[in-house]
Amino acid sequence: MERVNLALFVVEAVAYFAIMVTLLHFSQRIGLGVFLTALGVMHFMETYLAAVFYVALPFGIVSPGSSVFFAGKLMMILMLYLKEDAATVRQPIYGLFLGNILTVSIAWFLQFHVTVEVSPGRGADVGFLKEMGWLMVWGTALLYLDSLGIILLYEKLGRFIQRWVVLRFMFSGFVLLTFDQVGFFAALHYFLGVPLPVFWGGWLAKMLSVCIYSALFAFYQFAIRRHGATLAQRSVGDVFNDLTFRERYHDLLSRSGRDILTGVLDRSRMEIEGPQLVRGGMASGEVATILLFDADNFKDVNDRFGHLHGDEVLKAVAGQLTAMLRPTDRLFRFGGEEFVVLSARTNHAEGLLLAEHLRWQVANTVRNLEGHPITVSVGVATTGSDALSFNALLAVADDRLYEAKRSGRNCVVGQNGRVQAA
Ligand code: GH3
Ligand code: MG
Ligand code: MG
Repeated sequence: MERVNLALFVVEAVAYFAIMVTLLHFSQRIGLGVFLTALGVMHFMETYLAAVFYVALPFGIVSPGSSVFFAGKLMMILMLYLKEDAATVRQPIYGLFLGNILTVSIAWFLQFHVTVEVSPGRGADVGFLKEMGWLMVWGTALLYLDSLGIILLYEKLGRFIQRWVVLRFMFSGFVLLTFDQVGFFAALHYFLGVPLPVFWGGWLAKMLSVCIYSALFAFYQFAIRRHGATLAQRSVGDVFNDLTFRERYHDLLSRSGRDILTGVLDRSRMEIEGPQLVRGGMASGEVATILLFDADNFKDVNDRFGHLHGDEVLKAVAGQLTAMLRPTDRLFRFGGEEFVVLSARTNHAEGLLLAEHLRWQVANTVRNLEGHPITVSVGVATTGSDALSFNALLAVADDRLYEAKRSGRNCVVGQNGRVQAA
């Protein structure tokens, strides 16, 4: 008997998930309204079942209304959030809440009607309707908190286990449905006299639902989205690294303003940060130093080994510069094979030392295809003694870079001319 109930329970959960996820999956084609309406239309039935429909499972007395439908709805709201964004997921949360308040308000007016009995012995049970009404309002108020909670928790977990989406999904479900069970059962207990053992049965059933939904969620991510994803050339890792809207936004932010080839900050960032840094430094009486790098005879590298190898060399140069910089230095790709390092709180002597260090590092690590060293020339200029604005500073550094090229390349030029290599 209990085993039959359990089997039915699993079938119900699987059917619920399969249909709802199908609607969500094809929402681009059929419209998101289909999914949202389906989600909303089940609410009355779910509350009714949670109030009066109980079955025995091997681990206790449960209500499939609470567990299959309610747990399902919360997980669907989380999936909607993963697929869309906060603005979209707000719609069903507010819609359910306001729609239920409207239902209950109108039901309250209904009781003042003088009714007509059209089929004998079948009058409306207004008392029951009223009870159900309050339960619905309480249920949706909880759903509102649950929905916010499950989204926030899922986001927070992303900081620790971003790639483990199924685990995040499951853990968020466990926590928020436990919270929900406490809140909803309190109402059932006080208003409808539902006995305490039902609390544990109901809690276990919600946890079981989360397990079933998480397994199906994993299957969906693996089998269905991955299949769709291969068409879009996404790797398996990408599918399991499904980012929420906020995470996608931060990812985009962190990548914008970066040079595609080398990954260092791009010129547009330099145009913004350079003047800021110089102005800020002047205001607080600190000097900043600029280092302008240009790869030597780079046309030859391209001509002899091809543009693609030239690109690899540029990446290697940027990689070496990045590795040697201090946390307060900023590296930008200024142009083709030219890079700029902006060093805050660095005087001219320190700037020359850093430039010489970086020049040496590139010359001793980066090689062309024949194993010959790739070298850079550097012009160095410092605020105050050389110029008062970022652009003027850049012009001075550029003059010195030109001087470095003229005096034989693979060297650093500062205020007092060429720096002798140690
Ligand atoms: P010099 O020592 O005087 O700097 O000689 P150079 O050959 O490096 O001369 P110049 O700086 O004028 O030439 C820069 C060359 O860099 C020209 C251009 O083809 C190449 N270049 C610029 N951007 C890229 C890039 O993104 N990839 C590759 N492969 N080459 C680039
Ligand atoms: Mg150049
Ligand atoms: Mg060059």
